Amino acid sequence: MKAVQVVRPGELRIVERQEPAIQHGGEVLMKVRMAGICGSDMHIYHGTSPVATYPRVIGHEVVGEIIEVGSETERIRPGDKVVLEPIQSCGVCYACRAGRRNVCEQLQVYGVHLDGGYQEYMVVPERNVHKIADHLDWQTGVLIEPFTIGAQAAWRGDVRPGDVVFIMGAGPIGLCALHMSKIRGATCIVSDISDAKLAYAAELGADYTLHARKENIRTALLQFTGGLGPNVTIDAVCTEQTFEEAVDVTSVAGRVVVLGFGDSPSRIPQLPITKKELTVVGSRLQSNQFGYVIDLFNQGVLQPQSFITHRYPIDEVHRAIQLIETHPNEVRKVILEF
Ligand code: MN
Repeated sequence: MKAVQVVRPGELRIVERQEPAIQHGGEVLMKVRMAGICGSDMHIYHGTSPVATYPRVIGHEVVGEIIEVGSETERIRPGDKVVLEPIQSCGVCYACRAGRRNVCEQLQVYGVHLDGGYQEYMVVPERNVHKIADHLDWQTGVLIEPFTIGAQAAWRGDVRPGDVVFIMGAGPIGLCALHMSKIRGATCIVSDISDAKLAYAAELGADYTLHARKENIRTALLQFTGGLGPNVTIDAVCTEQTFEEAVDVTSVAGRVVVLGFGDSPSRIPQLPITKKELTVVGSRLQSNQFGYVIDLFNQGVLQPQSFITHRYPIDEVHRAIQLIETHPNEVRKVILEF
């Protein structure tokens, strides 16, 4: 079978591999049908991921069909349509015991620390797949994983009905956070430096959009919120500067959610955090969001098909990557088909 492997940073190859087989009773064999290309896949390819190991078959946004199940499986049956939950955790460390498996001490993520979804077949433990409704098509189902990331950010920001949420960045994660904040009953402001991305955010339900280069963000936000500032800021741009801005603009008793993996320090004084009693939180991957997000997809509450702008067969993965790199403003989500 074919697999897309990052051999070492900067070198991506389609390799021929043996089809995997079930080794333990608790595993399932999945035929991968579609996989999304994420910013983090691009980071692994370029060697700018602080967590990935090589060589690696990348891909963590994965949907497929179950071909075979092990003797000890309970929920999943051959023929089921499933989405991959790409995290493996130890179950006994502090984070796992606190229900936060996504920050497990022994965390392993498919496509990052373990071979991921850019291959024709995968064998994974049954707990790593969730059944989705038969009526969902693959190109809808493949968007479930990115929405769990948005759901996590909205949950970490404790977004409540009536809150004003400021989302920095109208890429896929910003847009998923927008949807999930709207579902929680918030009014949403989205900023970006692309007019096209801002127009799309408005189409998806953003109440107000801001061009971060053409407008003064602070002034515009204070004006929109009657001088208070947004109650929650979700930073999906993740630069040193956006983190500083987020702490600066967020309202009293507000929450700042950061999603970045950058290791350069921001200059953030204690005063705004103490004076406004801000809660500053990180949001990584997701914990327990798959069931909730799958229900929203199954019920048709989330119908984000317009996220996907391009589809390529796995053989054309190099073309797909080139498109993302050369036309970042025309690309929303690119999907590989198997
Ligand atoms: Mn992703």
